[in-house]
Amino acid sequence: MEQWKKTSCVLCAQNCGFEVKVENNRIIKVRGDKENPRSQGYICRKGLNIANFQHHDDRLTHPLKKTDRGFVPISWDQAFKEIGEKLKEIVDRHGPRAFAINGFGSMWCHFEAAFGRALLEGLGSKYFYNPQAQELTGFYWGAGKMLGRQNRPPIPDEHSADMLLAAGWNGMVSHQAPRAPIFLKEFAKNPDKLLVVIDPRLSETARTANIHIALRPGTDALLVRAMIALIIQEGWEDTKYIKAHTRGFEKIRCQFENFDVRGALAVCEVEYPAIYELCRELSRRKWCVHFDLGVMMNRHSTLATWLYLLLAAVCGRLCVSGGNVIPGCVHPLGEHSKEDHRNTWRTLATDFPAIMGYYPPNVLPEEILSEHPQRIRALINSSSNPLRSYADTAAFEKAFERLDLLVTVEVAMTETAEMSDFVLPGRTAYECYDTTFFALNYPEVYFQMRQPVITPHPDTLENGEIFIGIAEHAGVMPKIPDWLYRAAEKGLDEYAAALGAFAVKTLTPVSIMPLVLGKTLGPQLGSVNLAALWGHLFSAPRGFRKHTAGAGYPMPSVLETLKMPGKLSTAFSGVFKYINPGALAALAPQAAHAKILYEAAMTHPQGMWIGKVDPDRNMAQVRTSGKKIQLFEPRMSEWLKEITPELEKDALELKPEFPLVLNAGRHKPENANNIMRNPAWNEGRRTCTLAINPFDAKRLGLADKEIARVVTEAGSEELEVEVTEDVRQGQVLIPHGFGLKYKGKVHGINVNRLSQKQNRDRIAGTPLHRFVPCRVEKVGR
Ligand code: SF4
Repeated sequence: MEQWKKTSCVLCAQNCGFEVKVENNRIIKVRGDKENPRSQGYICRKGLNIANFQHHDDRLTHPLKKTDRGFVPISWDQAFKEIGEKLKEIVDRHGPRAFAINGFGSMWCHFEAAFGRALLEGLGSKYFYNPQAQELTGFYWGAGKMLGRQNRPPIPDEHSADMLLAAGWNGMVSHQAPRAPIFLKEFAKNPDKLLVVIDPRLSETARTANIHIALRPGTDALLVRAMIALIIQEGWEDTKYIKAHTRGFEKIRCQFENFDVRGALAVCEVEYPAIYELCRELSRRKWCVHFDLGVMMNRHSTLATWLYLLLAAVCGRLCVSGGNVIPGCVHPLGEHSKEDHRNTWRTLATDFPAIMGYYPPNVLPEEILSEHPQRIRALINSSSNPLRSYADTAAFEKAFERLDLLVTVEVAMTETAEMSDFVLPGRTAYECYDTTFFALNYPEVYFQMRQPVITPHPDTLENGEIFIGIAEHAGVMPKIPDWLYRAAEKGLDEYAAALGAFAVKTLTPVSIMPLVLGKTLGPQLGSVNLAALWGHLFSAPRGFRKHTAGAGYPMPSVLETLKMPGKLSTAFSGVFKYINPGALAALAPQAAHAKILYEAAMTHPQGMWIGKVDPDRNMAQVRTSGKKIQLFEPRMSEWLKEITPELEKDALELKPEFPLVLNAGRHKPENANNIMRNPAWNEGRRTCTLAINPFDAKRLGLADKEIARVVTEAGSEELEVEVTEDVRQGQVLIPHGFGLKYKGKVHGINVNRLSQKQNRDRIAGTPLHRFVPCRVEKVGR
């Protein structure tokens, strides 16, 4: 009988469950897993080609050190010692701000972040640069202001909605929701529902939609301001909801009630009657909004996403069924960073605060190239390829040349790895236990602990182990008593009690604890990631524990805990000298609950519902003072002053030398960021093209399939022309994720050579990839 193993796709944040057939330690077949409760058997062509990610010729299998002779293999011991000692030396001499980490989780292996951040914080630094701050942090910031928590941003509850607003989201290709193509088609076909797409181009999703609003590129903020204004001017706002659940409406009303809606819509190049009808529907229907990178990587990014949330609030659609809701989660993707708090560092050269605990990678070159005495000099880059995935490649190349130490933890020899002093081979998602915290859901809470399906190369390590090894030589690892190791050998009950005692006795900071868990429990469980999973469940917040009851995993009471088989109560009694009975009462049920959840995760390799939030009490998740949705935000009000028809008309005027707008990040079925490095999976397909409207192509004398040159302020690239009606006049598109070197040869162009890092959001620092002024020239080939 054929042996299929359960796992999931790691090529996008949906993490569709799939099964793989493995022969001779190679994936030879893939199929969707119908038992995965979230994706239910759905899989796209990217997932079906996952073997190209796992098995290819540029895989890394040994730690490498750069020398005059190029890269040479070294032992792990040598790598850990040299990197750890060099890091310590840099921090000792220049201070902790000289050390930063970039990346984590691009392969949807999220446990490495626990270990990597422990190393970072153990050395006293807070500079964690993360790819989410390339796209999402402006939205997180706005959600934090409006709802009180950056790390619990609202998601669309589309399954309970009868109208879905897809803004800058091409869900048919860039999924961002479970089974998105199937769901979107069904939604649009349902006569009781309405799918509305707001997007400059006739994307695959716009073609599927009931209504397509083809706004002028870069006018999202102006359009949404006009929509809110129209609703308020017509008296269509939900007054009952506003009164009951929000604060600040009277303060913002004045910014909309006399606003020139018709003037604004003329600048947006959309028809007044269409927007009037749309707003009427918004005021009557049960709707939610799904905005994506077309908004978040566009002009006025943070403001535009905040305005979409404001639109939802004015229509009574935030934190209600079928609206935009705060989901439950196993672990939030980051923390709530209070920007004015003394513990929240700002970047030294560019003055950006952390949002969700993340700093924007877009400013890294300036932070490295600055003359500040504490500038960044050492960077560990893990599961990330800044030289292909971040804006302004030339700036990154220059900055990385200046570093005293660049370490890359990766599975393949990427462009960034090639520039590094040390390259350390991690394990792929199919070679180790790991998970993602991206796969949000509502009202159920989803979790899948992937299990290894491929035996790893013996000289590779889990990324967490790599960080532990470096931490030991950087002087970060605390002294661990022998009895903690012994307790780990005896099982989770004994270990829970001993770990509690260790924490109380040594006052080891929580941020360092993953290193302790990995070192002591990791060997017993056979994986540092499993140790992190257990530790995570053991220390999970009350909110998550409450939600687990909805999925059939309630937290046991103290009494129930004491009656449980096993040695939990005995184990805890043994540490009374360190923990008082009150703490015991709190910790023992936590430990019992962690074990129940851990075992459930391990017996559901296909993924599981691990919790369920109460959909009737979503408003209770708001964490602002007074627990009301905050509609007034001074920085947004200030910014709104720029969003008028007159000012925007002038601001949108393009310079004569760059008369077109480049969308530098087209999503296609053929791109997967830059982790599918072997181009074989796209053989015979048109991949890295310049999509252009027939009118513009004719004007420039360009024919389909000929080569054209695209020029921006940052640089120029030549690529194949694709003439298509899907693109709006005045706009051109190039996909991201190409220009990758495989077996020494470059495939396609790297669109990030065309974008400038300074073209970024003023609050979040996110690059505005979807609005890059450019010109297109005929090359004559
Ligand atoms: S939708 Fe995303 S996670 Fe699912 S198979 Fe496609 S690339 Fe993989």
